[in-house]
Amino acid sequence: MKRRLVLLGAPGSGKGTQAEMITRQFGIPVTSPILRRERDLGTPLGLKTAETLQRGDLVSDDIIIELIEDWLRLHGSHGFVFDGFPRTLPQAQSLSSILARLRTALDLAIWLEVSEETVRERISGRLQCRSCGFVTSANAAKFSERAVCPYCDGHLERRSDDDVTVLQKRLAEYNTKTQPLADFYRKMSILHRIDGNRDREVVFADVSGLIEDKR
Ligand code: AMP
Repeated sequence: MKRRLVLLGAPGSGKGTQAEMITRQFGIPVTSPILRRERDLGTPLGLKTAETLQRGDLVSDDIIIELIEDWLRLHGSHGFVFDGFPRTLPQAQSLSSILARLRTALDLAIWLEVSEETVRERISGRLQCRSCGFVTSANAAKFSERAVCPYCDGHLERRSDDDVTVLQKRLAEYNTKTQPLADFYRKMSILHRIDGNRDREVVFADVSGLIEDKR
């Protein structure tokens, strides 16, 4: 089984959803979503980076790499799903060196491919539970009176960076800084592209196949 993976893709491609399904099915720990959690908890790091998140810019590589190193120190490098990391070439290169130092390597880089239409549709209707982080769409959820999480009864709300102008910036960052990683991981022969426009269960069947190495 492949246990060390990164999930890559545009905002709204389903990285968080798939990461959660992987953890539930295979018990592999997931990193997501470190920075949003720091912001919501109001930690010094969260306060320092909140504005960057709100603008839709990427946080500096140094900060992210330190977070990932901390995460690996705490959880070990036996198995992990990095959701939305790396997002730049320096981040990808640092991850490779960190893992080499730990005498291990990535097994899989899964790229969730989505059309711009899917991104806009999902982001404009995306709702997230304030308590447990469950993500759903306003269309899928049939709310009678109030938006309530089906799992924990928490309040469902829109992400503040899901606003149209911020999304524009997040997509621009993705196109210029993250897209080049495809080449990086293709050269390492661990890149797998999956059509992320489909339902979460259908996408997950493909993701599971890769993790279980049934190809
Ligand atoms: P996410 O929770 O993955 O949707 O990311 C929300 C925001 O956190 C992004 O728009 C960035 O501002 C920041 N962020 C998350 N991951 C990274 C990363 N690997 N590099 C830089 N910034 C990041």
